[in-house]
Amino acid sequence: MSKLDRVIIVGAGPVGCTAALILVQQGIPVVLVEREPELAEDLRGSTFHPPTLDMLDDLGVTEQLLPQGLIAPTYQYRDRASGAYAEFDLSLLQAHTRHPYRLQCEQYKLTRTILPMLEASGLAEIRFSTQLASITQGDDSVTVEVDGPGGPQTIEGRFLIGADGGPSKVRQSMDIEFEGFTYPERFLVVTTDFPFEEHLENLSYVNYISDPVEWCVILRVPGLWRVLFPTDPDEAEADVLEPARVEGLLQGLVATDTPYDKTHITLYRVHQRVAKTYRRGNVVLAGDAAHLNNPLGGMGMNGGLHDVFNLCPKLAAIMKTGAGEDLLDLYERQRRDITIEFIQNQTIQNKKNMEQIEEEQRLQHIADLRTMIADEEQAVAFLRRNNMLDALERANAIE
Ligand SMILES: Cc1cc2nc3c(=O)[nH]c(=O)nc-3n(C[C@H](O)[C@H](O)[C@H](O)COP(=O)(O)OP(=O)(O)OC[C@H]3O[C@@H](n4cnc5c(N)ncnc54)[C@H](O)[C@@H]3O)c2cc1C
Repeated sequence: MSKLDRVIIVGAGPVGCTAALILVQQGIPVVLVEREPELAEDLRGSTFHPPTLDMLDDLGVTEQLLPQGLIAPTYQYRDRASGAYAEFDLSLLQAHTRHPYRLQCEQYKLTRTILPMLEASGLAEIRFSTQLASITQGDDSVTVEVDGPGGPQTIEGRFLIGADGGPSKVRQSMDIEFEGFTYPERFLVVTTDFPFEEHLENLSYVNYISDPVEWCVILRVPGLWRVLFPTDPDEAEADVLEPARVEGLLQGLVATDTPYDKTHITLYRVHQRVAKTYRRGNVVLAGDAAHLNNPLGGMGMNGGLHDVFNLCPKLAAIMKTGAGEDLLDLYERQRRDITIEFIQNQTIQNKKNMEQIEEEQRLQHIADLRTMIADEEQAVAFLRRNNMLDALERANAIE
């Protein structure tokens, strides 16, 4: 088999690993290049949406993920001041998905599950501690220079998938603009084993809590709660992370006699950006390399996974059956359009809903959601939109 019969994937995050698994299961060899010496174990994405679980199920992954996470059959929108809340029941999606629930499971468990499957496939060459340096394109090939443990090396392939995250070297090498904006405020995520469920009435595993000053998201992962807060854009990072400040945020949620036990504290910038194009010749972008959004709704990783479930069968069709490369333009039309139409708009709106200043508006929002919940047809329509089913249906309809 020629070296040109394979796909180079840059980045072994959830999107790169999943792309590799889809391709090897279709009989396409891959070279997966990862800058770090091992898979990341960071606390980032932790919500898998129902259609993502369906797709991963087709790869034999969901059954391995389920015991590593928590099934969230419901999720809530709450008003922090009044305690009023609206709870959506995902079981209403039974006719729409094989997995009518969200799975609360850290994203590193996905990559850890996939890695041995790739190794067992015999079709995946995985190179850790290897960083992309440059890309050159031929008519039917891509050549990359990488810096690996043995020094500079050259890798050739038929196509290259840039799954190397937000700062994407692939996107930069292809000179692709990353259009959009960056929020002035950073987001703070504090992870704790404090039992919020014993203090906040009827908490779900996923809770979006609105407040004019300090909205927050409270999410459960196995054994821990993660709480996400916005921070003051004018405050220095050191001040935001000052232990008494962080403690104060948690005490503001539930006051306790003893300090909270905090497992992790992360402060990060949040962007709403989409690459101007997802394709330059034989190089295609997917995941965070192609789009970034705020985490309110848990759509970043899920959207990236949906990218490669769309892209990789198209690559396989081109490589195995000689289908036209215009399939890659279809990939861009299907995934880029819906990223803007659904994921960007929805996540921007989610943030606006949570930070509404007027109490009346916030309570009206909860009341509107409750009205929707009371009407099954409206509730299903909301759940389909909110859990990425509509976006996928719309993408598939784009020609
Ligand atoms: C706090 C937080 C909460 C989140 N919650 C959710 C959620 O609940 N649901 C959800 O869907 N999403 C969520 N997200 C977003 C999610 O984490 C990302 O969308 C997801 O990690 C994107 O995956 P990726 O594989 O595209 O990129 P990454 O996970 O960033 O992986 C990119 C990989 O490429 C490697 N790399 C980079 N440059 C190079 C190079 N030059 N050469 C070789 N390798 C390279 C990196 O080392 C990395 O391993 C959250 C994000 C944050 C920060």
